[in-house]
Amino acid sequence: MPRPIELIIHMDALRHNTEVMRRAAGDRFLWVVAKANAYGHGLENAAKAFSEADGIVILDISDAPRLRAAGWKKPILMIEGFFDPEDIPVLEKARAEVLVHSERLLSMLEGMKDLDLDVCIGLNTGMSRLGFRPSEAEAVRARLHAIPGVRCHGVVTHFANGDPSYKGDGPATVAKQLARLGRLADDPEGACLGATTAMLFHPEVKGNAVRAGIALYGVSPDSTVSEEALGIIPAQTLRAKIIAVQNLEPGEAVSYGSKWISERPSRIGIIACGYADGYPRPMPNGSPVWVEGKISPTVGRVCMDMMAVDITDNPAAKLGSWCELWGKHLPVNRVADRVGTIGYELICSVMPRVPVRVEDPGQ
Ligand SMILES: *Cc1c(COP(=O)(O)O)cnc(C)c1O
Repeated sequence: MPRPIELIIHMDALRHNTEVMRRAAGDRFLWVVAKANAYGHGLENAAKAFSEADGIVILDISDAPRLRAAGWKKPILMIEGFFDPEDIPVLEKARAEVLVHSERLLSMLEGMKDLDLDVCIGLNTGMSRLGFRPSEAEAVRARLHAIPGVRCHGVVTHFANGDPSYKGDGPATVAKQLARLGRLADDPEGACLGATTAMLFHPEVKGNAVRAGIALYGVSPDSTVSEEALGIIPAQTLRAKIIAVQNLEPGEAVSYGSKWISERPSRIGIIACGYADGYPRPMPNGSPVWVEGKISPTVGRVCMDMMAVDITDNPAAKLGSWCELWGKHLPVNRVADRVGTIGYELICSVMPRVPVRVEDPGQ
């Protein structure tokens, strides 16, 4: 028997969120981003749920043949390009389009023979991660056009500060990035502009294609905006059972370092989830756990395989109760906020030892 912990993947939520992002895309080409094992939801599950999208975005080379084996027939985009010349035959066979984002990749392609490859041009307009400068775009395009067997599909850029929480006027606001892009935003070969935040919060960002990510998984890209407000539904639930209950006198401590000491007679539930399952170890006392329809606070240090929750004020919570650590009833951003990170990190950090259960009411 496995430990009483599970990661539930909600296929109906993935489908619903795809429809929401389809509407946000309007008549633009909708790429769905499935890097990092589809943000922890399983690449095959995602490919199945995203069947109504126009194309899928990944970055691990081996994910391209994996998607084709799973029956994905639509376009695939490699958002970090390729890493070595040996990757190219694999990507050609999988008919995956490749982001060309640096002189290194461009000159590698120029040195290859018998290519049969779709590419696009990565532009750095302010993110300063990958990409050529917009002023280099036409020279890069001309060099790509000169390589036999290479077909160019325009430009791609990514925004650094599309979230409404960013109130600054730094060097990479959406407006400044758009200005740097200039006429390339309407590139006749194609312009794939922006991710979830640009799609939801920046109607001035247009182009003919978009890349939806986090919202597909039912997580708001900005913890100050609720999932409800965006009309999206969490697509993963991490939950584990209470496997022991400790009744403490006032003045007793819980877990390593005695970081929490009871001030009253307390009932403490021990949950079968720890940092080796993907729950963050730095989580402070008082972080939310959803158990028996109520939020109860965590107490004491998170251990490798266990953590503790104060159920003194939650009489329905008992030995064997399921505790939702994030998911359908407890938005992951609320948990992530407590530890100074973002929902993105938590949903893709659930460890392989946690059993996954795919819930698909549509099947
Ligand atoms: C991850 C990523 C996306 C998706 O971002 P979300 O914020 O999850 O929508 C889009 N484009 C690029 C280049 C990315 O790296």
